[in-house]
Amino acid sequence: MRAPSDPIDLHRHGAALRARRPAPLGPASAGPVAIVGAGPGDPELLTVKALRRLEAADVIVHDRLVSGEVLAFARPGAERIYVGKAAGAHAKTQEQINALLLGHARAGRRVVRLKGGDPFVFGRGGEEAEHLRAHGLEVEVVPGITAAAGCAAAAGIPLTHRDHAHAVTLVTGHGTAPEAEPDWAGLARPGQTLVIYMGVATAARTAERLIAHGLAPETPAAVVEKGTTEEQRVLATRLDGLAATVAEAGVRAPAVLVIGAVAAYAEAADRLAEPAVPACAAAL
Ligand code: SAH
Repeated sequence: MRAPSDPIDLHRHGAALRARRPAPLGPASAGPVAIVGAGPGDPELLTVKALRRLEAADVIVHDRLVSGEVLAFARPGAERIYVGKAAGAHAKTQEQINALLLGHARAGRRVVRLKGGDPFVFGRGGEEAEHLRAHGLEVEVVPGITAAAGCAAAAGIPLTHRDHAHAVTLVTGHGTAPEAEPDWAGLARPGQTLVIYMGVATAARTAERLIAHGLAPETPAAVVEKGTTEEQRVLATRLDGLAATVAEAGVRAPAVLVIGAVAAYAEAADRLAEPAVPACAAAL
């Protein structure tokens, strides 16, 4: 668990930086629109650039995953527009979001499109940037700490490790239709770390498919729920116990599943199964 953050200090830090530099955006004109990564939740994980864009914004269009503590950095007069997604139900369609961004930018407002984690990792940031550019607007993308990096750090899991993992794969758990199935054989190859986003509902199937494609059932696995926030939970288990762990602990989104030898490093409150040293560690 992280230590309690001190947003006041961070705020001062941002103010001091601004004092030394010119305003980040020019006078009111159409754009650029800043597509900004808000990080995984802990406001101290915002980048300095994200903080500066946030403080300068007239309009902030944000998702559900963006924490209130991050939104608190906005100017008091800034308009905040929630376009979030709650359990599959989109408060606004992607077309409506695109139209909203375009409208505000054309009206000369400084627009920040604020997204959880990194805007280009499972965040549709690419689609939004493409749409804005297609309509003649300049787009600036400000990266953020993606859930994999934030949750791994918070849980004490090194995503790569010279002895255990030479690759990291970020994958969505959403692919369920046969044509959207991931390359299970590739994902089941040992010696790598899998970080599965949006994978809570499909955890049982993911584990079953990975084992069917040859990944050892005793491969360490960890679940990080609401990583980097005050409500963070870290659960350590094994691949063959993943589905039961998720069900028994009542894990809810947002959560990532980390599968691979490095998950044995998870600093879990309660270790549900002792992870064995998997075959992949010996193979490297
Ligand atoms: N752009 C985001 C991902 C958006 S998809 C990023 O780069 O992190 C939404 C998924 O991200 C969630 O279902 C969950 O799997 C993951 N996620 C986002 N924030 C998280 C957090 N604080 N803790 C755990 N998982 C998180």
